[in-house]
Amino acid sequence: MKALMKTAAGKGHVALGEVPERAPGPAEVRIAVKYCGICGTDLHIEADEFPNDPPVIMGHEYCGTIVEVGEALADVWHVGERVVGELHTGACGTCFLCRAGQPHICPHKRALGSRTDGAFAEYLTVPGWLVHRIPDGVPWEVAAVTEPFAIAAHCLVERGALEGVQRVLISGSATMGLMSVIWAGRLGAEEIIVSGTDLDAPERFGLARELGATCTVNVQREGLLQAVMERTGGQGVDAWIECSGSPAAIAQGVPLVKRTGKVVLIGLVGAETIPVPWNTILYHELDLVGCFSSPPSSWALALSAEAAESPKLRRLVTAILPLERWQEGFAMMRRGEGVKILLDMSA
Ligand SMILES: [Zn+2]
Ligand SMILES: [Zn+2]
Repeated sequence: MKALMKTAAGKGHVALGEVPERAPGPAEVRIAVKYCGICGTDLHIEADEFPNDPPVIMGHEYCGTIVEVGEALADVWHVGERVVGELHTGACGTCFLCRAGQPHICPHKRALGSRTDGAFAEYLTVPGWLVHRIPDGVPWEVAAVTEPFAIAAHCLVERGALEGVQRVLISGSATMGLMSVIWAGRLGAEEIIVSGTDLDAPERFGLARELGATCTVNVQREGLLQAVMERTGGQGVDAWIECSGSPAAIAQGVPLVKRTGKVVLIGLVGAETIPVPWNTILYHELDLVGCFSSPPSSWALALSAEAAESPKLRRLVTAILPLERWQEGFAMMRRGEGVKILLDMSA
């Protein structure tokens, strides 16, 4: 079968190849992949900035149809079912994290698409415990964004506990920023301010407003401090959701949170350490919450919200390309064009 691989260690070394299909083990299912989304992580794997074990098939944001079921799962899964799946391959199942329902941060995890063969391929064979049914009526294009939608659910609902939050600042308007707009709206936020740069305006800012943002601020042209204070009665926001990973945005964001407010950290920064106005966090008694990836519980949250949010989520898919045109998709991502780009394995 055709597959997009990281073929060797180092920068680059990404190419289409022909690889053998793998039959499922007793507790595995084999999936005919429909779509797999290109994620920022894929660019980092290409640039060798994210841990990877080549040769490995890339891709982790997938949806598809079950075509073969391991013998131990014959009563659980059936050929023809439409599914999405977590990428927590290799999680041990026995450490305190796995036993607490947090395999996404198990130290033994060898994630799909970077350390275990992933889904930029015609077929994918994975452990059955990672797979979830796609709700009826949810189109493929929406199911394909379940993984980032689950991350946003984990960050805002489970980790951030932002139910009932009134005024929110979201920095960054790529996939995680825009999905945070959707979740903030679901959680009842009345003021949703989205900040970004020339890269985000006008396309992504327009989308952010369609999805529920009440205000967008291009920090290269407008004053974010003034905009936030004007809209919060001079207090600052109740919660700041940091999705940009930009050191400048992070330094700028801290003083925009009201005293006793919450900070939800989603965007990974390139450098290991960055300057942060530390004392302000103490003086203002801010709550900081770090987030990474998506435990199984957040997939249940995402899937239960997907039918209702289907029209909004569909807007996030800005291009669908056949697998052969992966380079075009990667280049669009690198230029910050559009939001979510899917590769179609059945095209
Ligand atoms: Zn991803
Ligand atoms: Zn574990």
